[in-house]
Amino acid sequence: MIFKITYQAKILIILSIFGWTGACQNEKNEAIDKIEDQRYAIAIHGGAGTILKKNMTPEREKDYREALETALTIGEDILKKGGTALDAVEKTIHYLEDNPLFNAGKGAVFNHSGENELDASIMRGSDQNAGAVGGLSTVKHPISAAIAVMDHSDHVLLTGNGAEQFAKEQGIETVDPSYFYTESRWKSLQRVIAEENGAELSESDDPNDKKHGTVGCVALDTHGDIVAGTSTGGMTNKKYNRFGDVPIIGAGTYAHNATVGVSCTGHGEYFIRYAVAHDVHARMLYLGESVQEASNYVVNTTLLKNGGSGGLIAVDKKGRVSMPFNSAGMYRAYAVPTKRYVGIYKDE
Ligand code: ASP
Repeated sequence: MIFKITYQAKILIILSIFGWTGACQNEKNEAIDKIEDQRYAIAIHGGAGTILKKNMTPEREKDYREALETALTIGEDILKKGGTALDAVEKTIHYLEDNPLFNAGKGAVFNHSGENELDASIMRGSDQNAGAVGGLSTVKHPISAAIAVMDHSDHVLLTGNGAEQFAKEQGIETVDPSYFYTESRWKSLQRVIAEENGAELSESDDPNDKKHGTVGCVALDTHGDIVAGTSTGGMTNKKYNRFGDVPIIGAGTYAHNATVGVSCTGHGEYFIRYAVAHDVHARMLYLGESVQEASNYVVNTTLLKNGGSGGLIAVDKKGRVSMPFNSAGMYRAYAVPTKRYVGIYKDE
């Protein structure tokens, strides 16, 4: 009898221990979910391409790393305080557009006619609303014009004079086209044109010459909203009012709260053909791939096997970041509550 009671008691004790541990496990899982739900993440890029250490001076490398750090901090500070992903993306891109190191805003590359034509786009993952502008020559911050298209028009993409007029009506800051002139980009255009005309050129010592320098930012805020934005001067020597992937939603920029936000940089024509930013989202949604699997596949299989060089940054709904590229380097950085990272070359 004594043995029986003890035996039953033992069973009861064991069962309650299991029950208690299970409850703890559940509480733990819920806690983890809550932390993940409330975390923020921000990723930025400043272009991908033939960025090699041997072509870079230590001073120049330092300038790039500091600029990436500063940009990241601007966005992260907004997210840390509970600000919106849209605000973080806009302010971060403003800094990158103002910094002549990058091919966006001040520092944009020149087209074949010696003009700067700027493109930008934004997408909000919560409602699939999006805005884009193409071929701007007087708007200081093209990303803000793209946001105005998204929030204050019935349209998604405005280009040329119409886009300029709309930006002015919206009170967005404009500048004289000469504001965008930088000597290094002008020299790059002269070199590319000379090369096109058959000139034998020694390898340029300017690492920007052969790189795609678009800037982009993707943020997940503490409210669970994802926003992706991209801004660029396009590609040196572009002709015929060419647009690349940047103002094309689904090619250079995409965001959906159920999956991921993506901003791309690279040879835009390929990113349009393979709907790169949307393809990352689609692979996650339809194939159940992780953000790493989906973005790696698109960059290192789809694009690579078809000759499209470049990379992308992606942030998923849990704040996981992926930044694959198939070129020699990509200016990139990200921050999550537990980590900060800045990189330029492969293998770092
Ligand atoms: N994707 C941009 C374009 O084709 C260029 C770049 O990312 O550098 O216009």
